[in-house]
This record gives sequence, structure tokens and C-alpha cells, in this order.
Amino acid sequence: MRLENKVVIITGAGSGIGKETALLFAKEGAKVVVADVNEKGGEETVAEIKRNGDGFFFKLDVSNREQSKQMAKTVLEKYGKIDVLINNAGIVQDAFVSKMTEQQWDKVIDINLKGVFNCIQAVVDIMMNQGSGVIINTSSIVGLNGNVGQVNYSATKAGLIGMTKTLAKELGKKGIRVNAVAPGFIATPMTAAVPEKILEMMKEKTPLRRLGKPEDIANAYLYLASDESNFVNGAVLSVDGGLII
Ligand code: NAP
Repeated sequence: MRLENKVVIITGAGSGIGKETALLFAKEGAKVVVADVNEKGGEETVAEIKRNGDGFFFKLDVSNREQSKQMAKTVLEKYGKIDVLINNAGIVQDAFVSKMTEQQWDKVIDINLKGVFNCIQAVVDIMMNQGSGVIINTSSIVGLNGNVGQVNYSATKAGLIGMTKTLAKELGKKGIRVNAVAPGFIATPMTAAVPEKILEMMKEKTPLRRLGKPEDIANAYLYLASDESNFVNGAVLSVDGGLII
């Protein structure tokens, strides 16, 4: 019970890494708010949580500031506090730079970067009033190294590292820790569309010779959300099997 009675919001918890995290955190005693634009996936996650844990679904498009504020208000009314926010929701819309449309650029920036800002602003006053809180941002190996066809995505994931380091400085003195996780290639619906040939190449380049599993990232989130990491602030934890791209 490493998260007993902690109130945790996980965006994008209707699928992949977020879902795995929601289920793990519920087992560890957290009350889990599953915030996702995908109603079906989100409700399914909550149904699994409720078998022996506590949580609820909030339909949230992170790029919508009003919805983000409403979510924080709802969580506060229901549970009386917000201990942890995991900004895990993210999308890809890949294209070579010469072919990328303005819409592809804007959409990825709106969800992956502005969406994180929206959710942080929605909870930050609450956490400051409490004098405690943990924020975890989901970056990527692509934010550290770049990747062909992902100029929009890599810009957002690198941007999250800047945000993490700045907020660690701004909010540390208020008792709020801000860290990032940078996953490598993880087997989820997001990577299901990546051609098999590319995934094989990534495995070859990974010293541990496999793709990551959602639980590999969920366990990293768990460490950063728990009191075990209470002197870790402004860090970017790579969880990528040693892959260099
Ligand atoms: P995933 O399986 O596609 O899950 C993402 C979830 O976020 C989905 O339920 C998705 O709903 C939801 N979502 C999309 N747009 C949203 C919005 N505007 N507001 C709220 N929720 C939204 O992806 P994943 O692989 O678990 O990825 C989770 C995070 O890890 C992302 O930030 C991703 O960039 C990052 N990451 C993943 C990998 C990897 O290899 N998988 C590597 C590095 C970093 P829909 O299904 O309706 O779109």
C-alpha cells in the first residue's frame, strides 16, 4: 500500500500506460481519477478499479481549459484533496516536416503541451494551499533525441522537460515535486500502428532486447508518486531499456 489514501488524477488512463498505472495505483491504495477523452476506455478502467478499489471516470479533453478546471473542482468536492497529477495523455500525428499540416502541428501541441499546462493550472492552487503535491509529466525518448517524422511530437515532449524543470524550481518551495518520465518504445495502442520492421529495429537497438511494457512505466510513475522519491524533484527518468535513437 505505497499510495494509501492518496488522491491521484491520471490523464489518458483509458488506455495503454495510463490504464496500467490506474490499476496499479488502485492496488496500492490510491483513489484514482481516470481522466480521458475516451469514454469507453475510461469507464472500462474504472470498472476494473472498482473490483477492489476506489475511483471514478471524468470525461476530459486536456486541451479544454474549462473541462480541466471542472475536473479539479469535482475531485476536490469528492475527495477533499489532490495529491498527485500524472499528465500522461498524449497523441501522435506523424509526418515529415515538409508534409506536416498546420492542423497536425496545432493538434499535437494543443493536447501534449498546452493540455499539460491546463491540467497543472487546474490543480496548482489546490496543491499550494495543501502545501503538498506531486506532478509527473510524460515526456519521451523522442523529446530527448528527436525522431524522424515527429517534429510536432518531439517538440512537445522536449517542451515538457523544460516545463518540468521550471516548475520544480517554482513549486518546490511550496512542497510540490515535479518530475518527468521519458519512456522508450512501449507496446501500447499508440505504437500498434508503428510498422513491425521499425519495432524490430528498436528492439535490436535496445540493450535489453525488447519493447517496454505499460507496467514498466507504471512502476516508474509509482516510484515518483510515492514518498519513496520525496527528495526527487526536476528529474527526467528514462525508462527505455537503454535504447539510444
Ligand atoms: P495510448 O494507448 O494511445 O493512450 C492514450 C490515452 O489518452 C487514450 O485513452 C487517448 O484516448 C487519451 N487521449 C487522447 N487525447 C486526449 C485528450 N485530448 N484528453 C484526454 N485524453 C486523451 O498511449 P500510450 O502509449 O499509453 O501513451 C501514454 C503517454 O506516454 C503519452 O503521453 C505518450 O506520448 C507517452 N509515450 C508513449 C510511448 C510509447 O511507446 N507508447 C513512448 C514514449 C512516450 P483515444 O484512445 O480516444 O485517443
